[in-house]
This record gives sequence, C-alpha cells and structure tokens, in this order.
Amino acid sequence: MHAQEDCIFCKIIAGDIPSAKVYEDEDVLAFLDLSQVTEGHTLVIPKNHEENLYELSEETAEKLFKAVPKVANAIKKAFNPLGLNMLNNNGEAAGQSVFHYHVHLLPRYGKGDGFG
Ligand code: 5GP
Ligand code: ZN
Repeated sequence: MHAQEDCIFCKIIAGDIPSAKVYEDEDVLAFLDLSQVTEGHTLVIPKNHEENLYELSEETAEKLFKAVPKVANAIKKAFNPLGLNMLNNNGEAAGQSVFHYHVHLLPRYGKGDGFG
C-alpha cells in the first residue's frame, strides 16, 4: 500500500501536515516527534505505508535501515547527545499509536533527561 488516506504520517510525507524534517531521501523521511521525550527525539519512517514490523517488507526494511545510521549521525551532529536509544512499538498493547511503521531515535543526555 503506498499511502493511506487517514494516516497522519502519510499526510506528513505528502506535506499536508507540517513537520520538522531531520533527513529525507526517496524512500525515507525522518522528522522530530511532536512530544520530544528528550531533545532531538526523532521518528524515522518509510514513505510506503506499512503498518508495523509484522507487515514490513524486506525491501522497505532495507531502505529504512540503510537510512537509520545517517539519521543517527545527523542527530549526533545537531544535538551532541551522550547516547541514543532506538525504539519501535508494534501493536496497541505495545504502545503503538500511529499505525504507519516508525522507529523512535531518542538522544540521551544522562540521568534526568526525561526518559527511563
Ligand atoms: P508510537 O506511540 O506509535 O510508537 O509513536 C507515535 C509518535 O508519533 C508519538 O510519539 C507522537 O508524539 C508522534 N506523533 C503523533 N502525531 C504526530 C504529528 O502530527 N507530528 C509529529 N511530528 N509527531 C506526531
Ligand atoms: Zn501511512
């Protein structure tokens, strides 16, 4: 499925909803999460609409994870964190609230940085 009408991330890809872009290529978009659990909290998404890890095609996974280290390094350069967590929620019970596959990149700044 290329894009889903009622998907907020498909709307961000289309430019119908504004976002603070961190990285973009033909197949992948990375933008700041609205909630900013820590400073520089970024979401990396494939441009193709696939719901979660169960649905993620090999082709999409390859394109997405090829871009992830580039996004991590862009975050490192911009925010200079001490560390970085990569997280992914699959299914409502696991905390997934947007059903367009995404990984969270969470820059870490030490104790009291807002996460964990
Ligand atoms: P999930 O809970 O599905 O793993 O993560 C979804 C994330 O998307 C949440 O952290 C939430 O803050 C973020 N989010 C939801 N709607 C928007 C939006 O319109 N713009 C941006 N930048 N982030 C969003
Ligand atoms: Zn979507």
